[in-house]
Amino acid sequence: MFKLKTPNYNFCKNRKIEYIIIHYTDMKTLGSAIKRLQSKVVKVSCHYIISKKGTIYQLVKENDIAWHAGISKWGKDVNLNDKSIGIELDNNGNEDYPIKQIKSLIKLIKNIKKRHKISKNKVLGHSHIAPGRKIDPGPKFPWKMLFNENLSNLY
Ligand SMILES: [Zn+2]
Repeated sequence: MFKLKTPNYNFCKNRKIEYIIIHYTDMKTLGSAIKRLQSKVVKVSCHYIISKKGTIYQLVKENDIAWHAGISKWGKDVNLNDKSIGIELDNNGNEDYPIKQIKSLIKLIKNIKKRHKISKNKVLGHSHIAPGRKIDPGPKFPWKMLFNENLSNLY
């Protein structure tokens, strides 16, 4: 795991993490995606970004609020940034996810889920919490693999 810096987060002393939200970067390269997640102008971020090779980079501490979900809702919960960890996958939105990348994601989710006691009902995609506005992680995302690992109810 590599650590990177971004100005795009809210410091938080203590918060309850209930969700894991999965995204794709929608960018051509990992480098351009990271640059965007560090941009003071764009004002977006995530906690983790995973490369196609499966390398994990952390941009925001788990306890701090990253800016990845935007206007969002799930059940009675709104502004999911407050209660979630956001994971970006290096993917342009129109390509298959390499197995190495998904294996890293599964490992990371297992670890986060255990530490924060997150329900598998709350491991979701951006598209689930912002329908009509967002489509990531997209139709190529292998929900079935997460389902088979008992990490999500989606498939
Ligand atoms: Zn997203």
